[in-house]
Amino acid sequence: MTHMHIAGSIHADAVQGGPTWLTVPDDLNELDLSLWPRGTHRDETGRVVVAGVALTDVVAEHGTPVYVIDEDDFRSRARDFRAAFPDWDVYYAGKALLTRTVARWAAEEGLNLDVTTLGEMRIALEGGMPAQRLGFHGNNKSEEEIAFALAQGVGRIIVDSFDEIARLEAACVEGGHRAKVLVRVTTGVEAHTHEYIATAHEDQKFGLSIMGGQALTALVRCHSSQYLDLLGIHSHIGSQIFETLGFEVAIRRTMKLAAQFRTATGVELPELDLGGGFGIAYTSADTPQPTSDLAAAFEEMIEHECRAFALARPRLSLEPGRAICGPAGVAVYRVGTIKNVELEGGRTRLYVSVDGGMSDNIRPALYAAEYSAAVANRTSDAEPVLSRVVGKHCEGGDILIRDVFLPSDVAIGDLIAVPGAGAYARSMASNYNQIPKPPVVSAKDGVTSTMLRRETLDDLMRLDVGQ
Ligand SMILES: *Cc1c(COP(=O)(O)O)cnc(C)c1O
Repeated sequence: MTHMHIAGSIHADAVQGGPTWLTVPDDLNELDLSLWPRGTHRDETGRVVVAGVALTDVVAEHGTPVYVIDEDDFRSRARDFRAAFPDWDVYYAGKALLTRTVARWAAEEGLNLDVTTLGEMRIALEGGMPAQRLGFHGNNKSEEEIAFALAQGVGRIIVDSFDEIARLEAACVEGGHRAKVLVRVTTGVEAHTHEYIATAHEDQKFGLSIMGGQALTALVRCHSSQYLDLLGIHSHIGSQIFETLGFEVAIRRTMKLAAQFRTATGVELPELDLGGGFGIAYTSADTPQPTSDLAAAFEEMIEHECRAFALARPRLSLEPGRAICGPAGVAVYRVGTIKNVELEGGRTRLYVSVDGGMSDNIRPALYAAEYSAAVANRTSDAEPVLSRVVGKHCEGGDILIRDVFLPSDVAIGDLIAVPGAGAYARSMASNYNQIPKPPVVSAKDGVTSTMLRRETLDDLMRLDVGQ
């Protein structure tokens, strides 16, 4: 869906009463447990409790908006990947959510970590992730970033262009280093996800094309380099993917490329990285596969392609981000104003404005991402009303949730909790309209701890150094 369609479809929704997947809930107080951190429930007074902490208590201490991350939920999803893919390397994609604490959790759970910038490398290292367990990504790594990565001894660099290969070799010469590399390729897979988060079709900025021949050329180029140790091929087909078909095609094409590389050089590549992108449930319409099912499907595909191309099983890795931190996080807002907007045909739509919006969650505006929500401070016996949760920014498109059922007695001061907010919310946050970014609070066994404090207006004022 593009931005153009959003305005046009308001009218259609008004007639239909919302998207086809959205049904009127029997009981608004009931939480769909597939969306919330494991163990989330309402206590006897009706308050939503995450990791043993009532969200009202988190808000009393930290204010709104606030992101709450359930530590045990994050850790259990990390463990699920380790258990389901026992002899694979699992790289947590730090861009989804990265703080020093999160890097420490990942390290403690036996995950490696993907980073894309100097900033992400710094936080990962300060969180205690060993440099050898970092994978360094990006399509435009700077000389400074490459030099830092080499000096730290980063475990692998995923090269994305011929320019970068030359830049990396120059940095190796300069600093007296060698670099372990994978070549990021595009497999031509059209992943069934939003265009902006599909990354394997040909016409986009990432990777080197298998079909166009650049991927093989780059592999041979790295293989023959004096300064680079070529580990293998890297493919990441996109994000929020539910079907394994795209991965199947990616595996076939990368394995075929590995066979072509062997023909060209006589050498078998030792590694293959299949990227991330495993979908999570944001609404009750989303039905992600259990991680163990995913693993079984991957193993079967790998085995099949190894046999087909007579290749030894490579060392394998994958890179889940959202699937580990997304469901662990909840964003909590406070309702500020409520407006009943009259639509054509005598219908109305309830606009519920909260004290955040596109600055703390850009995903709905960026790629029409859908979310769900619940009133977190109380239960209600009022009837469900189709509502739209909007932010406080100066944009008509500042919509957090286009369609969600809320109780008709939703009131100023109520808390609105949004599940699935652990990934790509705080990490993509901005200061649009000079709003300070919300804090990220971890919760475990009834105790909270601040991971990232709330930005203050003083933080913002300090940046403004003009006269
Ligand atoms: C973004 C990204 C990931 C993680 O994607 P998720 O959808 O969060 O799992 C993994 N690998 C690469 C190269 C990425 O760019």
